[in-house]
Amino acid sequence: MYSGSKCHDLLMRMEITSDIVEGQQRGYRQGRSFDAIVVGAGFSGLYQLLCLRDRLGLSVQVLEAAEEIGGTWYWNRYPGARCDSESHSYCYSFSEQLWQEWEWSEKYPGPPEIRRYLNHVADKFDLKRDIRLNTRVTSAHYDQAANRWRASTDDGDVYTAQFLITAVGCLSTANVPDLPGLDSFQGQWYHTGQWPHKGVDFRGKRVGQIGTGSTGIQSAPVIAETASHLTVFQRTANYSVPARNGPLSPDFKRWIRENAGEIRTTMRTAVNGHPFLISETSALAVSPAERLALYEKAWETGGLRFRGTFRDLVTSNEANATAVAFLKDKIRKIVKDPATAEKLADIDHPYAAKRPPIDTDYFETFNRDNVMLVDVRADPIERITQNGIRTKGGAEYPLDIIVFATGFDGMTGSLLRMNIRGRDGLSLANAWAAGPRNYLGLQIAGFPNLFTVTGPGSPSVLCNMPVAIEQHVEWISDCIAHMRKEGLTRIEATEESMEDWMAKVNAAANATVLPQAKHSWYLGANIPGKPRVFMPYAGGMAHYRKICADVAARNYEGFTLSA
Ligand code: FAD
Ligand code: NAP
Repeated sequence: MYSGSKCHDLLMRMEITSDIVEGQQRGYRQGRSFDAIVVGAGFSGLYQLLCLRDRLGLSVQVLEAAEEIGGTWYWNRYPGARCDSESHSYCYSFSEQLWQEWEWSEKYPGPPEIRRYLNHVADKFDLKRDIRLNTRVTSAHYDQAANRWRASTDDGDVYTAQFLITAVGCLSTANVPDLPGLDSFQGQWYHTGQWPHKGVDFRGKRVGQIGTGSTGIQSAPVIAETASHLTVFQRTANYSVPARNGPLSPDFKRWIRENAGEIRTTMRTAVNGHPFLISETSALAVSPAERLALYEKAWETGGLRFRGTFRDLVTSNEANATAVAFLKDKIRKIVKDPATAEKLADIDHPYAAKRPPIDTDYFETFNRDNVMLVDVRADPIERITQNGIRTKGGAEYPLDIIVFATGFDGMTGSLLRMNIRGRDGLSLANAWAAGPRNYLGLQIAGFPNLFTVTGPGSPSVLCNMPVAIEQHVEWISDCIAHMRKEGLTRIEATEESMEDWMAKVNAAANATVLPQAKHSWYLGANIPGKPRVFMPYAGGMAHYRKICADVAARNYEGFTLSA
């Protein structure tokens, strides 16, 4: 089908030409030609622009759908939204000056502070002049003869470049479930990942929240504070560990500044890019009393550090079961109504098999008089009615506002919506019909000069993401620098290297408990019809970094480079 014949090339060129003619007829601007196009202006896109423009001297255009930079932190403004990486690590580490001059106020800041940080970075490095906002890329086609990518945008412009770099985010396509009757609902509904900038007033309102992932666990306690009533619709019960958020003390801020090098080294060598190391002790190597004491200490410390209590929590079911027992016991102790506690503790997957949420008073929220839990695994939602939500069992829940905390079409959603076509007209949708396949999460056979920052098959979402993002962006930039130096113009992953990498991705996942969470977005299970493939690379960030460095050192082994 993808013959690479002259005829096919001609058809491709005609299709591209007709895009241009159509654009010209409609009076759109043309001739926007660059060395590289970067799609997205979150953490990834900003740093990719800086590296290519200021370090390599390339002409770069960033295209961003939103009206501001910030990515995740532009879109996710729901009540209670915060990062779960500790602030002093949820930032760039490439610039000592930037590290020294920026001061975080809290351990887990919310969207406004993170947006301020990203704007500070963009202003400091004069990035905004090369970012075009309010511009969604609607298609990106590779022109084989010209060895250039042509990106069309929703306002009708066409941009061309030798390199196309997607920085579109792993969690940037909101998933609103296709529930019958939503159009008929007479109240208001919102998805947490597309939250109105002016906020939502819950006072005096009966609110229904669907979803108990990291988002729902953050939002429910805050919504409950002002709503007259909150009904939480839970399909899969979830673990959560207290975040123990709070202001950073002057001493801690000083410590961050004075120990920048050491903190960065920890982040870059840690399995998951966080600023702490995972214990080397097995959960099974200590006595029950000692284990309990360590779990209690980690619970008091709070946050994602809980995951680092023992080395084998994600690699051994037996070790994991000890954490499961501890965390379920906590739920039963916190939640006063035994029936509600049982529903909340009826968790069907190992701890950390989904990205583990951290919270402020999530389980405590179910002790409030104005909060109710509905188990929609036992009695699924049948439809949205004019007045609220009805379940298959016939129960009716009258609501004024529905909050969809229902997550994202993770890792592949934004890439597939971009209508990407590579060599011989091959569409990414076809290439990935059975699930994403690529080499190192960075490149796909059939799509020359296309790089995917934090693509599926990379550690990305299993990490503190700025660390994963910096590594990808720097690797891509080094690769392009190498090509320029050697007079090479085209790079493409081979089929064989892709096959080999996918086998490694599967093997790494199967060496952990992660694929056992059947209802996880890591597996694509949250999107009806999406192929069930464990998408991120679970072999650890530090190991992955070494693999990528070795590939580069071996003259970009597994890629075909040509002039
Ligand atoms: P994004 O920030 O998602 O930016 C991608 C950008 O691409 C978006 O602005 C989008 O509008 C744009 N885009 C997409 N498609 C197109 C298109 N076709 N045309 C033009 N523009 C397009 N990770 C952590 O490591 N720690 C955390 O604490 C953490 N907290 C999170 C909290 C929430 C609520 C969510 C949803 C995610 C969180 N993450 C966290 C993951 C987070 O996505 C990453 O940390 C990081 O922000 C990703 O940056 P990015 O630039 O790769 O992608
Ligand atoms: P999520 O983890 O995918 O959770 C979505 C929730 O909605 C799940 O409980 C899911 O149930 C439920 N759901 C989806 N469709 C449903 C339907 N049709 N009916 C009933 N329930 C339905 O999404 P998220 O909470 O937005 O988090 C996504 C990721 O973003 C996280 O894993 C994390 O990486 C990141 N994040 C981080 C933070 C942070 O603390 N920094 C905060 C928010 C998000 P099932 O589980 O049964 O599918």
